Amino acid sequence: MAAEYYRLSKDKVAELFERARADYDVVAKTRDANGNLVYGRPVSFDDVAFVDEQPPMSAKAFALPQTEALVRYERENDKIRAEGPEAPTRDILIFGVNMCDATAFDIIDRVFRWDYLDDPYLGRRAQTTQFALACASIQQDCFCDRISYDEDGVDAVAYDLEGSYLIKVQTEKGRTLVERYKDLFATEDGDAESSIKAFKEKAGTAKKEPMLESAKPALEKAFEHADWEILASTCIGCGVCTYVCPTCHCFDIQDEGGSSRGRRLRVWDHCTGRTFTAMAAEQPRDRQYKRYRQRLLHKFWYYPERFGPLLCTGCGRCITHCPVKINIRELVEYFGGLKDTPPGGARHGK
Ligand code: SF4
Ligand code: SF4
Repeated sequence: MAAEYYRLSKDKVAELFERARADYDVVAKTRDANGNLVYGRPVSFDDVAFVDEQPPMSAKAFALPQTEALVRYERENDKIRAEGPEAPTRDILIFGVNMCDATAFDIIDRVFRWDYLDDPYLGRRAQTTQFALACASIQQDCFCDRISYDEDGVDAVAYDLEGSYLIKVQTEKGRTLVERYKDLFATEDGDAESSIKAFKEKAGTAKKEPMLESAKPALEKAFEHADWEILASTCIGCGVCTYVCPTCHCFDIQDEGGSSRGRRLRVWDHCTGRTFTAMAAEQPRDRQYKRYRQRLLHKFWYYPERFGPLLCTGCGRCITHCPVKINIRELVEYFGGLKDTPPGGARHGK
């Protein structure tokens, strides 16, 4: 659909949240018991953080839970009763989601509707509406300005233009959201796209060359580059980068229980882990740098080769939260030929 533009007064945001709770299972940013910002289910707007600050964890768990029971079974005498995964009973609204998290869903969708239709995931996605809050300033370690991900699939986006929010509605789900509470929205009469362009330039999120997509041809020739071993061997394989990443989607299947009852679980996994590709005969990625190389090349070479966009929204979380401060953007720039010097600077003898 063609984009539509509205205005939402700042003093109407609380009412929008409260009224939406009647129609949606509303997810929003809030503070956990330790005071950290998380996507959760606040029951009152008093507990909502309607801010552009990026939480450490992305919103992906609302479509791809960290642990999900694909099958539950129980034996009763001679019969076995089995249940499939639980579908959401209500539509989900992610209220104030960061753009890097909102756009990540479209990237993961391509995998889960590719050679196999993953019904539990796709079911949750079909029931999810995104009401994004665009960042008014670029976040720590973020490089979304260097990745041309597609924003058009985000259902509705709010741009903070100081006095009020300019709302860009881009999908039918976004239109439904606005129509349900239309007394809260005013039609935008001005040049909305010029306002959005100026907003992004001021925020630092407007796109800047060289885009990281341009690194792919050189990355395709860099698989055997000798510096992978030096630069990626500092990785300790903790998996933090993949857990905080809005686009990482690898999972493992684990069974628990026994002959009388049990569950088959889908759980998040990570390619940087020592056992991820381990087989009875061998471990093809037998060194830690090979596992990190896999993560980077999957995002900037293999996935785009099959699906188009990068498997990254440039949120920067994997840089911020890596315990050994591996910087994926700098490594892409170096191995992708956009910079001559490696992240730690030129080494002795080089
Ligand atoms: S790879 Fe890093 S920067 Fe890219 S989306 Fe994942 S966490 Fe964010
Ligand atoms: S890159 Fe950093 S966060 Fe990711 S597995 Fe290695 S050490 Fe952990």
